[in-house]
Amino acid sequence: MALHKLVVISLDSLGLRDLDEFREFVPHLDQLIKRGTWVKRVRGIFPTLTYPSHTSIITGQYPAIHGIVNNTKIQPQRESPDWYWYRKDVKAMPLYDVAREAGLTTAAFLWPVTARSKINYNLAEIFPNRIWTNQVLVSLKASSPLFLYQMNHRYGKLRRGIKQPWLDDFVTACAVDTLKNKRPDLTLIHLVDMDSMRHRNGVRSPQAKAALQRLDRRVAKIIQASRDAGTYDDTDFVILGDHYQINVDKMIHLNMAFAKQGLLTPIKGKSTYKNNWRVTAKTCDGDTKGYVDLNKLKQLIAGVEGVERIYSGAEAVKLGADPKCSFLVEAKPGYYFTDEVNRPAIVEKVDPSSLGTHDRYRAVHGYGPNQPNYFTTAIFVGPSINQGKEVETAHLVDEGPTFAKILGLHYPAPTAGQVIPGVIKSEVK
Ligand SMILES: [Zn+2]
Repeated sequence: MALHKLVVISLDSLGLRDLDEFREFVPHLDQLIKRGTWVKRVRGIFPTLTYPSHTSIITGQYPAIHGIVNNTKIQPQRESPDWYWYRKDVKAMPLYDVAREAGLTTAAFLWPVTARSKINYNLAEIFPNRIWTNQVLVSLKASSPLFLYQMNHRYGKLRRGIKQPWLDDFVTACAVDTLKNKRPDLTLIHLVDMDSMRHRNGVRSPQAKAALQRLDRRVAKIIQASRDAGTYDDTDFVILGDHYQINVDKMIHLNMAFAKQGLLTPIKGKSTYKNNWRVTAKTCDGDTKGYVDLNKLKQLIAGVEGVERIYSGAEAVKLGADPKCSFLVEAKPGYYFTDEVNRPAIVEKVDPSSLGTHDRYRAVHGYGPNQPNYFTTAIFVGPSINQGKEVETAHLVDEGPTFAKILGLHYPAPTAGQVIPGVIKSEVK
């Protein structure tokens, strides 16, 4: 058994700005900040998307190394491509595997890219994408079958498919049950309520603020579970975000510009295109990636409204982004990319009545990590953690190495991230 237990709670899209602006509305997080160490400005990775970010958090590596370069895969003929769901897609060692090899027990609740992993108690994040698959079946294949069955049996009534805030209520109930009854050494929890509300209603909308308050209460419930289990005195907690969001009102359909040049072939009557593309843009919302090297394309793209910057493939690698893309295009705040073709224009205003349908948003993420006021943040608290301290800056990739040190574990290969100085009490090894 580990000297200390660790519970990591990811509040999707939590930014530094949330804790700066709304601290009085989140009494539990406020208490944790006072009792622990607040790492205020955490710089994200490129792209600032959920799956790449969570994989960077748990491996201490950038996407170029860990291989989760986007949320979804390149499947141009599908309106809703597959996500990177499976552990086998992660090319670097995640901390949960390091922990298991050291004989620790592990649990994860909707932590991205953990399907078919060796986590002891795992509810993997996976949802049905093709009409002929059924959600329960897909999840059963992907998760710990008996565990999923038990959790669904006990708490399934809290859930309405994968809709929020009910999904987070379900996840919280499952995590609480597991902390009490299984007492895992490492627990990873991913709550998505606020991210969903932001996409739909805007970054600082009343709905997002209400979600933040719900998350504050869920964090309290999870911590209470460790008190009930009698493990609280030996447990360190981390409450962190993966990225922030930026409000948008315009879409850039870059593939339409390529279609006009005859570089890809739209499928009639659909927003998708054929597999025989010579150039394709693959969206990460706030940035997009081009997958063929054609220099004059850069000129074409540079002329499109809303394009902030074009990075070469080599620059993309330096940023830790997908090494396979030929170039990477970042949107200006207010704009985001889609993969769609057959739309009225290359740049299109988001119709408010379309919000909530596929790829229609009021706010997104996926930009480069250097956009202004775009930091995420992290709160560390527990017996291994300094009390009442603030650390000004860190990188997302520093979080995994810091978790490893708390648990007395070592990644098998050097990580891009380093243990964050000033967080862990000096007497802890
Ligand atoms: Zn996210």
